[in-house]
Amino acid sequence: MFVDSHCHLNFPELRKQLPEILEAMDRNQVGHALVVSVNLPDWPELMEVVHSQPRLWASVGVHPDYEDTPDPSVEELVRLSATEKVVAIGETGLDYYRLTGDLEWQRERFRRHIRAAREVAKPLIIHTRSSSEDTLRLMREEGAAEAGGVMHCFTESQAVADAAIDLNFYISFSGIVTFKNAKELHEVARTIPLDRLLIETDSPYLAPVPHRGKLNDPSKVIHVAERIADLRGLTVAEVAKASTDNFFRLFKGIAH
Ligand SMILES: [Zn+2]
Ligand SMILES: [Zn+2]
Repeated sequence: MFVDSHCHLNFPELRKQLPEILEAMDRNQVGHALVVSVNLPDWPELMEVVHSQPRLWASVGVHPDYEDTPDPSVEELVRLSATEKVVAIGETGLDYYRLTGDLEWQRERFRRHIRAAREVAKPLIIHTRSSSEDTLRLMREEGAAEAGGVMHCFTESQAVADAAIDLNFYISFSGIVTFKNAKELHEVARTIPLDRLLIETDSPYLAPVPHRGKLNDPSKVIHVAERIADLRGLTVAEVAKASTDNFFRLFKGIAH
């Protein structure tokens, strides 16, 4: 069985095809998918999507790229996560690529997510782009290791992967690892401990080869597993088992 540790099935382009996507997941043996929150206005709809299916799970949080959206307080995140369908806090983190200028508000938002995750003892889903130094610094300052979590859609260096693993985090690879030119990332995917590895689609974005450029969905996570198996000299079944075991170990609330 495969699992998709990070997707946005509630986004309109995927939501309107949900029955077809669930069928494709069955065909490809993708058993569970974690639907990741990016803002609070869309939260009620996201909960509707995950409640419609026993194999769908949710996180709650506000993405660092969403500038003009209500900022959650620690109390609000704690309150919204108090249901069995919510197995993680995020996605949260820092993104200095998409936005520039004074981004202190991003760091404040990130700190609040870490505090909430520690309070409810649920893992963090962290997004970091062009900001790895500050991301790791804030993780250390706020004690993120206590909650643990995952560095999602990982595209950073080996040193950042090692530092995140030291902080009790997992490393999740998306379709980017199937891209030919992602040489440094291939090396990270080849060498990190197998018991720290997760796979994801980040759909609807980043469709893996051979679907590159098309709409992505959780059934396509198998291509991420295939590429990692290839890089590590393992069978696809071995990568599927390890990443699925890791998924259930990290997101403890998921019934399986
Ligand atoms: Zn992200
Ligand atoms: Zn995402």
